[in-house]
Amino acid sequence: MTEVQKSWATSEGVRRSMRSNKGRDTLIELRVRKQMFALGYRYRVNHRPLQSLRRTADIVFTRARVAIFVDGCFWHGCSLHYSAPKANGDFWSLKVSTNIRRDDETNRLLADAGWTVLRFWEHEPNDAVVSSIVEHIDKRRRTHTVALPSSVRSMTATSATADTKPSK
Ligand SMILES: [Zn+2]
Repeated sequence: MTEVQKSWATSEGVRRSMRSNKGRDTLIELRVRKQMFALGYRYRVNHRPLQSLRRTADIVFTRARVAIFVDGCFWHGCSLHYSAPKANGDFWSLKVSTNIRRDDETNRLLADAGWTVLRFWEHEPNDAVVSSIVEHIDKRRRTHTVALPSSVRSMTATSATADTKPSK
């Protein structure tokens, strides 16, 4: 479909990336989900954090209100791996910059609604991704516990436990 420049590892990498654009689970996503599950966390996959907002996150921790996006290096313009294909370069550049703008907007809208948004690149090692997610979820749960009035606190603490980690 396209000819790519050398900064991209392999053209197979690009093809894989393009295929994994929407609605497909990337390998890193699967690995991260598997690790989170094994650690006892529960989550929704390809889920809208806000029902009213047509943006789907890859992994969603609903009670902790943490939304995870694993961005494809090609489609979201990773600075290490993205370079515009020579063929139809303008077309791809426009498409990718539109995606980047949309990502920024999504981050802002979700943050405004009280969500923690975490974005990772598909090239990141899954262990690092998992520990970052765990850290943020635990932080969210601690913050909730400290910041909210006691009546709300007990409710939130209970539901957060049910959502993320089994109590036993
Ligand atoms: Zn990358």
